[in-house]
Amino acid sequence: MLAVALAVTLGAAQAATPSQTTISPKSIDAATQLRERALNDDTGYKVVESLTTEVGPRMAGSEADARAVAWAQAKFKQLGFDRVWTEPVTFPKWERRSESAQVLGDHSQKLAVTALGGSPGGTIEGEVVRFADLASLQAAPAGSLAGKIAFIDHEMERAKDGSGYGMGSRIRSAGPSAAIRAGAAAYMMRSAGTDSHRNPHTGITHFDDGLAPIPSAALAAPDAEQLARLVALGKPVRVKLALDCGWNGTATSYNVIGEMRGRSKPDEVVVIGGHLDSWDLGTGAIDDGAGVAIAMGAGKLIGDMKQRPARTIRVVAFANEEQGLFGGRAYGEKHVADVRKHQIGAESDFGAGRVYAFSTSAPDYAKDAAKQIADVLAPLGIAYTPGEGGPGPDVGPFAANGLAWAALRQDGTDYFDFHHTPDDTLDKIDPKALAQNVAAYAVFAYLAADAQGDFGSKPGKVTPPHE
Ligand code: ZN
Ligand code: ZN
Repeated sequence: MLAVALAVTLGAAQAATPSQTTISPKSIDAATQLRERALNDDTGYKVVESLTTEVGPRMAGSEADARAVAWAQAKFKQLGFDRVWTEPVTFPKWERRSESAQVLGDHSQKLAVTALGGSPGGTIEGEVVRFADLASLQAAPAGSLAGKIAFIDHEMERAKDGSGYGMGSRIRSAGPSAAIRAGAAAYMMRSAGTDSHRNPHTGITHFDDGLAPIPSAALAAPDAEQLARLVALGKPVRVKLALDCGWNGTATSYNVIGEMRGRSKPDEVVVIGGHLDSWDLGTGAIDDGAGVAIAMGAGKLIGDMKQRPARTIRVVAFANEEQGLFGGRAYGEKHVADVRKHQIGAESDFGAGRVYAFSTSAPDYAKDAAKQIADVLAPLGIAYTPGEGGPGPDVGPFAANGLAWAALRQDGTDYFDFHHTPDDTLDKIDPKALAQNVAAYAVFAYLAADAQGDFGSKPGKVTPPHE
């Protein structure tokens, strides 16, 4: 009697907390074989080659964006995905038509410049006022820059984890509003990048509510240095900035989704993806053709397995990440009621460098399973780094509503040499490194999809760490 009572008590106690999530030895064996197969497979590279060659640059809302959506649907089908569909995403449409900048007067010369996404058009001639950093511009008194061009000359730091982009992107997003508050007629910044080529880096900017937007642009690094030297000569330096660009109504694009159905729990999904849109200067190879290719390649390799995982692998090619996470937010909103059916999610959006670290948001009861996944990833040169990293950008909005996430962090040492420039092209991708990424995503997605138990997805507001 006592033994029975004890068993009942233990059973009740276990029911109160989720049981441990585990992964079977058979799944581990299958994932190990999958890993080796992926390392010798070029599906990922062929996918990014196809996208960057056949579609090319594909700015959100453009004619090429629509071609990219058709391309993604056709590619999913060609790769053998069981279900392929689209979900609409509507957003304001921004267009770039032409852009130039020129130093006027005694030292007349052209500057390599590009409009920031979201900038209005306009032609401004004004004296350049240089600021070493964002804080200095933010401290400029109201009206002090009347009729002038504010110029932030911050050099972004190179880092494996891309941490220098935190300040680089803040200068891009917050600089224009600071310039307006000081009365400036236009805004220029040294590009948020780490190269020394005459390639300006574009990227979205933002104007605070209640401010009248001003033409805002980024200079290539050598041109920013040139301008700084001209200013240092001590006489007023006047620049003519001419941008023809701006908002033009709204556009509808699509999240394109493909599924490899699971064998026993097909309504539960592991979501992996990248974003389909790119900026318009390059062909969007590393940002983010690579991410789309990595996720599609991993999905295809899992779909080809003799025995599929229990759950479905869902690959999402997200719409319009670049101008404000529109695709990721739309996906998160549309599927929020199904958060528990989403086993875990991860997005690849940091180029095509090798994955060097893995982490997840797994709660205590799933940490052993996360470690099992890490053990299969380890031979790929991937360290287990619990507590570091965060969800990819398009997974972020859903993660804030309770989606469990994983981070497969890539070596981004040279990512910001090419990011958002004309140099973001296919030749920057090392096919072997891309295959390592596909192997990592395939292993992670397969094991998460075949685990017994979950990784903690549940409805509720959380603040995921910023990657
Ligand atoms: Zn991206
Ligand atoms: Zn980007």
